[in-house]
Amino acid sequence: MSAGTPLLQVKNLQKYFPVFSQGFVRRQTGLVKAVDDISFDLIPGETLGLVGESGCGKTTTGRAILRALDPTAGQVLYQDGEQTVDLTQLSSKQLKPLRTKMQMIFQDPFGSLNPSQTVGFMLMRSLELQGEDPVEAKARSLKLLQQVGLGDQAFNRKPRNFSGGQRQRIALARALYGDPKVLILDEPNANLDTEGEHALAEALKKAKEAGQAIVVISHRASLLSIVDNVAVLKDG
Ligand code: ADP
Ligand code: MG
Repeated sequence: MSAGTPLLQVKNLQKYFPVFSQGFVRRQTGLVKAVDDISFDLIPGETLGLVGESGCGKTTTGRAILRALDPTAGQVLYQDGEQTVDLTQLSSKQLKPLRTKMQMIFQDPFGSLNPSQTVGFMLMRSLELQGEDPVEAKARSLKLLQQVGLGDQAFNRKPRNFSGGQRQRIALARALYGDPKVLILDEPNANLDTEGEHALAEALKKAKEAGQAIVVISHRASLLSIVDNVAVLKDG
């Protein structure tokens, strides 16, 4: 695999949602073309900004790429070592080992963080599940928190003690534990102040240096200083 080999190739991706009538008999009355023929390549260490107004299909694109929902048509080719696999064709069993390699961080990750667990416990558990011993896992958890700009004091706190932007960085730290190859961040800067945005930009810069391919979804242009290319999406 040469340096310029794409890690991810999205080809003619489509996702249509059926629209149903409201009456007693639900009939399909139309289609929402949420994502209509999107193509792009990503090489390792490349960051793509996916921008566009609210409702234009950004989140659906991210979810369709990672098979959080099934695309209507198109291919998502992922370079898994020497092998190229089409994610749209894999069974959920075949997708499972690839899940840690491709992570999406949602706009408000509160729902995906267990409110009764401290951040440290949550991160350590993820690492221990991968077979790391507790001492190693703690050291790495603290390092991940450092990387996303949250610091050691975040370790013993629970998700409710953080702002929305900080919670998103906790989710980023958790996504990074498995050394993902592809990261998709959905509106990471939606409710960030300047300081939070700076910390996020730094964290993404490090992820990029580590060779991770990143898609940053945003309806604002403020994070665009860190991306290599920008794709503007309009009506799918
Ligand atoms: P964005 O993230 O750019 O704001 P989305 O991808 O969330 O946009 O939505 C794109 C379009 O698809 C919108 O018109 C939205 O209403 C529609 N849509 C999204 N998810 C669904 C769904 N599960 N069922 C039906 N329509 C949906
Ligand atoms: Mg969205």
